[in-house]
Amino acid sequence: MSKILVIAELDGHALNPSTSKCVTCATALDATEINVLILSDQCGEAAAAAAQIAGVGKVLTVEAAHNAQPLAAVLAPQIAAAAADYDYVFGPSTTFGKDVMPRAAALLGVGQVSDIMAVSGPRSFQRPVYAGNAILTVEVPEGRKIVATVRTASWKEAAGGNSAAIEAIEPAADIPSHTRYVGLESHASERPDLQAAKKVISGGRGVGSAENFELVFKLADKIGAGVGASRAAVDAGYVPNDMQVGQTGKIIAPDLYMAFGISGAIQHLTGIKDAGTIVAINKDPEAPIFEIADIGLVGDLFEVIPELEAKL
Ligand SMILES: Cc1cc2nc3c(=O)[nH]c(=O)nc-3n(C[C@H](O)[C@H](O)[C@H](O)COP(=O)(O)OP(=O)(O)OC[C@H]3O[C@@H](n4cnc5c(N)ncnc54)[C@H](O)[C@@H]3O)c2cc1C
Repeated sequence: MSKILVIAELDGHALNPSTSKCVTCATALDATEINVLILSDQCGEAAAAAAQIAGVGKVLTVEAAHNAQPLAAVLAPQIAAAAADYDYVFGPSTTFGKDVMPRAAALLGVGQVSDIMAVSGPRSFQRPVYAGNAILTVEVPEGRKIVATVRTASWKEAAGGNSAAIEAIEPAADIPSHTRYVGLESHASERPDLQAAKKVISGGRGVGSAENFELVFKLADKIGAGVGASRAAVDAGYVPNDMQVGQTGKIIAPDLYMAFGISGAIQHLTGIKDAGTIVAINKDPEAPIFEIADIGLVGDLFEVIPELEAKL
């Protein structure tokens, strides 16, 4: 008899697919009820999308001006209040979830279970450690609420077709005034979000410069892919660090991942190991990335990319 509350992640006012993946993880538990909580200044679009996710019992909305931006300090007290009757509170292990969920856990007086990749029992979960080289089983003692982040790369989106009820709620929480939204500086981009993209093309140190990265961007735009990078490419200043894929960057699971001029260091591979098909292009036949690639091409990326583009 357990109830699970899934905290929705929004992109603006749209539902991020990470929410559906959290629901899939929730369905791996024997829950009596899985509800989704949406906090926004305009919940309508996201609530309608969440109501369609298979397995969702109810969509709860907290529509308020102070929820216009996903500020962890503002959302966490509302999540903690809304979670009072729940046994589990799940959020995605994305930048959003990593920001807000530990605060919610602290307010609820529990530690957080991080990065659930598999459910082994009602209070037992698996998570990767050491850049995915070891799997840890985490057991939560009885009698404690379980607040957890879900490793979105490990779970598929749930099916659609549901029509769950949508209910507005008003959690009794004090909204802090010590943290306010001032502004957002982001790289406006038409490209798909790296963590949600079905196709991702990444460049590494082998790309050689910020100017050369335009080649990667052009190819990505041609096939509607998101663009990522290795840490070496980020550290060299070719691209901004929000594009970094890997242990200290983004963990992604696209259907297709293409790596150009990336050697395949373990810290990079940990970010892509759940990708559907991995294609590696590297001029060094001994590059470790070929060990995990489904398709490997030994070649110079400056020749391969224009050839590929010409064929598309
Ligand atoms: C704690 C820690 C965390 C880290 N986190 C991350 C992380 O999150 N993400 C990450 O990526 N790394 C991370 N790293 C760094 C990681 O160890 C590697 O240094 C990094 O991934 C290397 O990037 P790279 O493959 O682009 O560069 P390199 O290892 O230098 O490889 C460049 C590759 O490009 C190939 N190449 C060169 N020219 C061409 C060409 N013209 N055509 C085709 N191929 C070419 C070369 O053969 C080579 O294989 C981390 C390291 C540490 C210690």
